[in-house]
Amino acid sequence: MADYGHDLVFGTFLTPQNADPHAPVVLAQLSERAGLDLVTFQDHPYQPAFLDTWTLLSYVAASTERIKISGNVINLPLRPPVLLARQAASLDLLSGGRFELGLGAGAFWDAIVAMGGPRRSPAEAVASMSEAIDIIRTTWDASRRGGVFADGEQYKIRGAKRGPEPAHDVSIWLGALGPRMLRLLGEKADGWLPSLSNLKPGDLARGNAIIDEAAAAAGRDPREVRRMLNITAETATVDDLLPLALGDGVSAFILASDEPGAIQVWGEEIAPELREAVTRERRAAGTPTGEVVRGPKALALRREGIAYDALPPALAATAVEPGDKAYPKARSTYMRSGAPGLVLRPGTAAEVAEALAFARRQDVPLAVRSGGHGISGRSTNDGGIVIDLARLDSVDVSGTRVRVGPGTSWGHVAESLAPHGLAMSSGDFGDVGVGGLATAGGIGFLSRKFGLTIDHVTAAEVVLADGRIVRADARENPDLFWALRGAGGNFGIVTAFELDAYPVGDVVFAQMLYDASDTSALLERWGKLVEAAPRELTSFLYLFAGRRGSAPAAQAITVWADDDTDAAVDALTPLLSVAPVRQQQAQLLPYPAIVAPSDAAHYGGQADPLISNGLAVHLAPDLNEVIADGLRSGVTPWIAIRAAGGAVNDVDPGTTAYPHRHQNFNVSSVGGHRELFREHWDELRRHLDGLYLSFETDQRPERLRDAFPGDTLTRLRELKAVYDPENVFSQNFPIALPVDRLHG
Ligand SMILES: Cc1cc2nc3c(=O)[nH]c(=O)nc-3n(C[C@H](O)[C@H](O)[C@H](O)COP(=O)(O)OP(=O)(O)OC[C@H]3O[C@@H](n4cnc5c(N)ncnc54)[C@H](O)[C@@H]3O)c2cc1C
Repeated sequence: MADYGHDLVFGTFLTPQNADPHAPVVLAQLSERAGLDLVTFQDHPYQPAFLDTWTLLSYVAASTERIKISGNVINLPLRPPVLLARQAASLDLLSGGRFELGLGAGAFWDAIVAMGGPRRSPAEAVASMSEAIDIIRTTWDASRRGGVFADGEQYKIRGAKRGPEPAHDVSIWLGALGPRMLRLLGEKADGWLPSLSNLKPGDLARGNAIIDEAAAAAGRDPREVRRMLNITAETATVDDLLPLALGDGVSAFILASDEPGAIQVWGEEIAPELREAVTRERRAAGTPTGEVVRGPKALALRREGIAYDALPPALAATAVEPGDKAYPKARSTYMRSGAPGLVLRPGTAAEVAEALAFARRQDVPLAVRSGGHGISGRSTNDGGIVIDLARLDSVDVSGTRVRVGPGTSWGHVAESLAPHGLAMSSGDFGDVGVGGLATAGGIGFLSRKFGLTIDHVTAAEVVLADGRIVRADARENPDLFWALRGAGGNFGIVTAFELDAYPVGDVVFAQMLYDASDTSALLERWGKLVEAAPRELTSFLYLFAGRRGSAPAAQAITVWADDDTDAAVDALTPLLSVAPVRQQQAQLLPYPAIVAPSDAAHYGGQADPLISNGLAVHLAPDLNEVIADGLRSGVTPWIAIRAAGGAVNDVDPGTTAYPHRHQNFNVSSVGGHRELFREHWDELRRHLDGLYLSFETDQRPERLRDAFPGDTLTRLRELKAVYDPENVFSQNFPIALPVDRLHG
């Protein structure tokens, strides 16, 4: 007797006939309407009466909305594995994660050979499947560098490029029967997909035993393999299927029928009844369901110091550990490679509090992550816990009031606001997360007109170090509200922000590429023009060192925060005179187009990035000379100068914990050589006035003083002692410790 406790899946197995080419599509749509979970098609590419299954799958994906799709099963001998991986990933991306890969090693060998395919013995068929699974998974794995290589018995792959990565973790199900293929399945695949009509009594139990044994020998938990079954209308009854579910562990039943009436009854009557009966029986038998399953191999990768088994169930269900398939995407951030022992993904403020309480009981580092684009903030670690807020990603608009989860990106916020004619300035990159930016500042493309992002935060919901969930706004916890807007990473985990958005429609987006040979003069002219320009104009200037003897270049990205193109042209034209122009263009665009999110997965890549910054009132010649030196010498091959004045400076310096309210520019740069970079920045800082925490990797205590000059740091230290006396939040310019050392 076996019941692996999987949730039940119900599907259809349709004939891809081409006599009436739309008929299979209509049946797929009917399957979806009938409430079924999955629609599948056989794949016999040598059969002229059939549509090509891949083409049909794509068509069906585009003609349905919810239902999952799969080949049942895809013919491996006629479909080379790298291409198959790309087709599967592409369809998964296009369908929003609805594709699963049912695979078969081949049959009808004469027909396959007639089409130019190979003839394989049973042993060769197993080898080809084993090699193909590895090749497919390697092709999907964009988290690693290098190409796809295989020197197998059946496939020689010589450095094919990896990717694309599917939208979700695509399952590989095998239509297997023989013991060798079943052993392979237990070792590597995610599901067994035989047809009941091909099985003799006892075959399911025998097959399960082989799979279970092979899975255990490979360090997997047998529950990692779903048992599925193609059935016919005659056996599609609750009485017939219940014993298969409870006794043979079958958790996916796929009805082979092209009869609309049978499909409807299957989806609307039999499937719900069977689901209910299985739930009832499992409850009575105490069968565990919905558990995250990890085999010995995955468990061996757990890190010291974390009581994994003590995780509250709600957190355990979504947590990611080093042995999980989701781990490569969860471990690192945009700037940093990481190897945390546990990534917790709470979905509510209460779960965040639970996650924090759990993390505090462990003896490992803690990182808080929203969008994973931290520069100062380290939102990953080695062997510790990450509280990842990606699931808190809602954006609710009501009038100009917007409630935003920290885990979404500013690109998505812009997309949600645009239909209401609203916008919120954030930064220059749409993938940057809400949480990190809205707790530090937000110097964006609309800043001169509308100020910093934090200037429009009207309230925050925060989980404090002691687990309390509090509101911070002008009336409730006003001191916390002050600290959160500038030094938020030190004071708690913000689980929601309330923002006051402003009306913005289309904006003018201009790009100018300059020859920056005379860097210093360019900076002076650009700086003066930007300062004098109307506030609708915000410009960011990026400087690049010249390569292989060529002149350095500068790119100005300028936004005119209005759709008045005549006024924009008047304001932009002078910028064409700051240096020789190599290219220029300007477009009228909706604001979200400027910060469009790419939602790219983070795979890290930099061990320890080097980025520093400071603020300047004017781009004066002595400052410009040092900037130009850094570019010329190659110490800072990439420099960004962001306009940070205008409306930013309308706010009193004491209103938020970002006190820099008289400067007009932020200068930041990226370095490679640690010592030279530090020397360069020590020199540069003599000409600068203050620092924006979000663009800084230098953790020396002096930088805290630059970021929080005068009374700001004193007040922050007092509040840190109240809200986070044990310095739980220490991954982003920790306030208590460095200052103690400074005064010690
Ligand atoms: C490519 C790129 C472009 C950028 N451009 C700009 C720009 O134009 N303007 C600008 O102002 N900034 C810009 N930034 C900097 C950006 O604002 C910060 O790096 C910010 O911290 C990123 O937020 P995140 O949520 O993605 O970061 P994460 O890596 O998720 O978090 C960084 C840190 O922020 C804190 N934090 C995150 N979420 C929360 C939360 N919910 N509650 C409390 N603390 C939290 C934590 O200390 C964490 O370590 C840019 C960064 C990158 C990488």
